[in-house]
Amino acid sequence: MENKYTLKVFLVFVFLFKFCNVFFKFLKSAILSLAAAVSTQAVSETAADLVSTIQHPNFQHIYLITDPDARSFEARLIFQNGELDNPYAEGLAHYVEHLAWLNVTQSKDFEALRHSNAWTNLNSTAYVTHSSETWLTKELQRLVEVTAPFTLAKSFMLQERDIILREYEANVAENPYFEIEQNITKALYPSSPWARSVLGSPTEIEDFSLINAKKLHRKSHELGNAVLIVTGNISKTTLQKALRNLNFPKPAAPIAPTPLPTPEVANKRVAADIHVARLGSPTLFYRKLIKRPPCSDAAFCDQTVRVLRAALDSSLPGGIAGPLRFDNFFARSFWFDLRAIGSKHLLIEFTAEPDLNISLSKLETEFTKVFNEIVQQGIPEKTIKQIKKRFQGHLNDVLKRKNYRKNLLIDRVSNRQPYYGLTAERRALRSVTAQKINDLLTALGQSGRTVIYRANEL
Ligand SMILES: [Zn+2]
Repeated sequence: MENKYTLKVFLVFVFLFKFCNVFFKFLKSAILSLAAAVSTQAVSETAADLVSTIQHPNFQHIYLITDPDARSFEARLIFQNGELDNPYAEGLAHYVEHLAWLNVTQSKDFEALRHSNAWTNLNSTAYVTHSSETWLTKELQRLVEVTAPFTLAKSFMLQERDIILREYEANVAENPYFEIEQNITKALYPSSPWARSVLGSPTEIEDFSLINAKKLHRKSHELGNAVLIVTGNISKTTLQKALRNLNFPKPAAPIAPTPLPTPEVANKRVAADIHVARLGSPTLFYRKLIKRPPCSDAAFCDQTVRVLRAALDSSLPGGIAGPLRFDNFFARSFWFDLRAIGSKHLLIEFTAEPDLNISLSKLETEFTKVFNEIVQQGIPEKTIKQIKKRFQGHLNDVLKRKNYRKNLLIDRVSNRQPYYGLTAERRALRSVTAQKINDLLTALGQSGRTVIYRANEL
């Protein structure tokens, strides 16, 4: 189990591309939201959605989650623009985030820096501040000012590249899968922005251009393309009052989020034997990208993927754990995931360490065989029912966990996906049937782009 857990943590790490010092906080919330993003019929409709929306002429959206018991508030400004939208050197969006935040925090109240953070991923760029109600207007003003042109000294801005280099080194040092995942991503999305690295490479980082950074900042930091999320002990009236007191450094009006790019999924198999000095044991990396069947209701699309993912990852009939790990000894440990890439594609990820005397090729053959058999036979209705019941059973925990809605909201917005509330989630989970799950499963069996890396074969 420890091995599986280790794999999981590192791979989620790579997948999220969350950087800076809030990384672990987000990693934790993302795991929680992946693990328990479900609901059930037992909740009353009114209890389910406590997220208010505020209309504003300058922001794309404003969401408020009031928690009267909280002792402070958190405000996040999330631009619907990330490394995917960066036409310059890889990693420049992250550099822009550093500069924009320094531009706001450097010259002013340093104390507040201790309670603030920022991060960049493929889809978005976010700035977070944390304070008490008295400081609400001031903190919101600080967030709005990340859109203001840089006024820092040129030499100071160039020095920031060294900070990013150190951040790169820390990521590589902490994660033995860092490089291999980057290579797999490049092989999976040839000439697509989905292959872009949020951190960039050391050579690119050293060469980041200030002129391009300023151009990218102007383009990516439009307030009209940003979502403001306020959570904590703030009432709607208090927030509305603070919003009226804000000064906007430049004109802003809501704009629609940039559509996510479409990856290529022509049928192709890329396989390679590689050696990674830092990986102790032989490891198989299997990835397959497919076009998903059309799906329009965001909550339903998510729930079907979650239920199918859990069924496949289980040791129940229809899952891969029995045939690969418990009934036969092919995989000593494995990590499985199924997730959406944009709204039209699905990615199957299987990473495994073979059992004693099993080669990586044998493990690959067995995984493909087991997977194809499941696709042929379908997942038994009983398994689907059990998974749904398990998800519904999490509900009481979910309701006790105050941060659940907040994490769900932040997760959706930072992945440039529309937000839906718990009511929609409950409805979607109820409408998941074995038939619908097996239709999606059939789609997983179709041709797509497959990348297989066999690392450190003995
Ligand atoms: Zn950073």
